[in-house]
Amino acid sequence: MTKPAKYKPLNLLNNKGFWPEKAAIVDAIKEVLTIGKCRAPLPISDYGRYRDRHWRGDDNELVPYHSVDWYVYDALDEDRLQVNAEQILKSLATEPWRRKDVLGDHYDLFIMEEDMYDPEEGRDGSQVGYLVGRSERLTAAVISTYRIEHIWGMPYSYLKTEVMRQLCFMFAVPDVRREDVTAEGDALYCKNVCILRRAEVAPDDWERLTRERLRFGPLCEPCTQDLRRFFEQVAEEKS
Ligand SMILES: [Zn+2]
Repeated sequence: MTKPAKYKPLNLLNNKGFWPEKAAIVDAIKEVLTIGKCRAPLPISDYGRYRDRHWRGDDNELVPYHSVDWYVYDALDEDRLQVNAEQILKSLATEPWRRKDVLGDHYDLFIMEEDMYDPEEGRDGSQVGYLVGRSERLTAAVISTYRIEHIWGMPYSYLKTEVMRQLCFMFAVPDVRREDVTAEGDALYCKNVCILRRAEVAPDDWERLTRERLRFGPLCEPCTQDLRRFFEQVAEEKS
C-alpha cells in the first residue's frame, strides 16, 4: 500500500436538510486552517444531502453508495436504532467514488442527525452507549448531532467544537509519538487543556470543551505544532 496522500479534496456530506447551524462547519474548517497556518487549502466540495439521480432502484430500494440515506441505512442497527460508527467509516473508506477514474482519494466529513454508537464500546471501560464523533486517519470523519442537540436547537458552538476535533483527528493530530497523549482503541486523545481531549458524556463534555476552547483557545501548544506540521506536509505535497 502506498502512503495515503495528505493534500486532497475535502468533501462535506450531511443528511440534515435545512439547518441553520450548518455554518458552524464552515467556521470550524476555517479556524482549523488558520491555526494550522495552512498555505495550500484543500479543495472543498459541499455535497449537502447527497442523492444522485440513481439513488433508488426500480424496486425503490436504496442503491449502495448513491445517497447519504444509504450510508446511514446500511450502518443502522435496527434493534438499537443507532448507526454503527465503524461501519459507516468503512463504507466511506471503501466507496467506489475513491477509485482514480471517479473522484479519487479524498477526505469525507459526514454530519448526520441519527444517534451513533461504537460497536467496540466497553473495551476501554467506557459505557455511555452512544458516540458523537469518530474519524479514520487521513480518510473520513463522521459526526452525530443527536446528543449535542437540545429542545431549543443545537448549540452552534458545540458543533463547531466537534467539527474542529474530528478534523484534527482525521489530520492525524495529535501525533502518536507524543507522550502527552492517550490511546483508546484506535483513537488517540490529547491529555492537555485542549479540544482534542477525550470527551464522552454528551452534552456535558462538549459544553466543557467549548467553554475551554473559547477561554484558552482550541488547541494546546503541542497539538498546534502537530497541526502546523500536517499543513506543511500538505503544502509540500501540493508543490
Ligand atoms: Zn492538545
